[in-house]
Amino acid sequence: MKVLVAVKRVADYNVKVRPKGDGSGPDLNNVKMSINPFCEIAVEEAVRLKEAGTATEIIAVSIGPKTAQEQIRTALALGVDRGILVETDEDVQPLGVAKILNEIAKQEEAQIIILGKQSIDGDNNQTGQMLAALGNMGQGTFASELKIEDGKAQVTREVDGGLQTISLSLPAVVTSDLRLNEPRYASLPNIMKAKKKPLDVKTPDDLGVNITQSVKLVKVAPPPERQAGIKVESVAELVDKLKNEAKVI
Ligand code: AMP
Repeated sequence: MKVLVAVKRVADYNVKVRPKGDGSGPDLNNVKMSINPFCEIAVEEAVRLKEAGTATEIIAVSIGPKTAQEQIRTALALGVDRGILVETDEDVQPLGVAKILNEIAKQEEAQIIILGKQSIDGDNNQTGQMLAALGNMGQGTFASELKIEDGKAQVTREVDGGLQTISLSLPAVVTSDLRLNEPRYASLPNIMKAKKKPLDVKTPDDLGVNITQSVKLVKVAPPPERQAGIKVESVAELVDKLKNEAKVI
C-alpha cells in the first residue's frame, strides 16, 4: 500500500514573522524555513504505517520553490522513501495544491494520503478537504488516531465535545491533528542516507494542472499593539472599572 504525504515549506514556528513594508505579504528574507509542524506529524504517521508493515512505500510531495527540496530531504531523513517536488515560484493556494496532489495520488495509486490539518502560515485548513472532494475520496480530518484494518482506514477525529471514530474505504484522505503522534528527530546517519534517496522535480504544467489563483491577497498587517495594563487597589475598584470604563459587566 502506497502512502502519499504532503509537506509544506513554511517559516519555522519559532520565528516571529513581520509583514513587508508595503503590506504585500510576510517578509521571509533571512527567515528560517521548516516543514509545517502538522506535516511533520503526517510524515511520522506514514513512517509508523511502514514500520508496522502496513505501508510498502511512502512518497513525500511538496509544492513550492526549488528550496522546498530541503523540506523533502528532511522527510526522507525521517523515513520517507522518495520525494516529488512540484516546482513553482507562484504562491499556490489550497485549491491549486489539492489539484496537484490529486493528480499525483492518481498517478501513484496511493491508498492513503496524509496531510497536515492546517498550514501555520496561511491557517487555511482547506487542502485536505478539497483534495477529498476532487478525488471523490472519503476524508478523516483532525485525526488523533489512524488504524488500517480489513482494507479500511479507521480514523479517530478530534471534534467539539470529544472524539469521533469513522471508517473510510480506500483510497482516503487523512489530515493530522496535534495528538496523532509525536514526531521523531532525524538521526545524522539518516540525514546522510536521505541525500541518496530519489527526488523527482516536476512542474504544475507537467501534471496538466492550472494553478491560477482564485483568491487575491489584499493586505498583510501586524495585529494592533496591546496597550499596557494598570494595577487596581481593590476588588471594588476593579468592578467599578469593568462596569463604568470597560462596560463589560
Ligand atoms: P492548508 O489547507 O493550507 O491549511 O494546508 C493543510 C495541509 O495541506 C498542509 O499541512 C500540507 O500537508 C498540505 N499543503 C498545503 N500547501 C502545501 C504545499 N504547498 N505543498 C505541500 N503540501 C501542502
